[in-house]
Amino acid sequence: MVMSITGTLIQSYNICKRQTWLMAHQIIPDQEHQYIELGRLIDEESYDREKKKINFENVVLDLIKSEDGDIIVGEVKKSSKAQESARMQLAFYLYKLKQSGINARGVLMFPEERKRVSIELTPDIEKELEDMLEDIQRVILREKPPTFKKIGYCKNCGYKEFCFS
Ligand code: SF4
Repeated sequence: MVMSITGTLIQSYNICKRQTWLMAHQIIPDQEHQYIELGRLIDEESYDREKKKINFENVVLDLIKSEDGDIIVGEVKKSSKAQESARMQLAFYLYKLKQSGINARGVLMFPEERKRVSIELTPDIEKELEDMLEDIQRVILREKPPTFKKIGYCKNCGYKEFCFS
């Protein structure tokens, strides 16, 4: 199975690889846990240069033009608890934009915490992403999901019922 990697898979990979496998295999999570959004393939068509928003999967990103003409992609997050996975997810969107010929910078915004984190697609981050993409393919090509290991994130995870039964 060769499949397109989505930002949602990137995010889950940095939290729980078992979740990545379950998502990739279209196992439907408990719908009450809204923040698990099943990844949809990136719709390249949905990017429109005229618009101020871009749509990747079911994520709407704000496009902001800075004074010096750079494009900045902003993503609002509720909390910075999973900041590392959010950082890699946004870096992945920047990476996909770059592949479409659009060089952009990113900013993660946590309005409730009055915090902003800038993300730049450096060669190191690109390398990190490429290694991650390869490893995600390895994870999802496994016949079985990685074994269940309880983590703090489980209590809010849409696969809780599945994993704990
Ligand atoms: S319940 Fe826990 S182990 Fe299972 S997919 Fe969710 S985070 Fe991973």
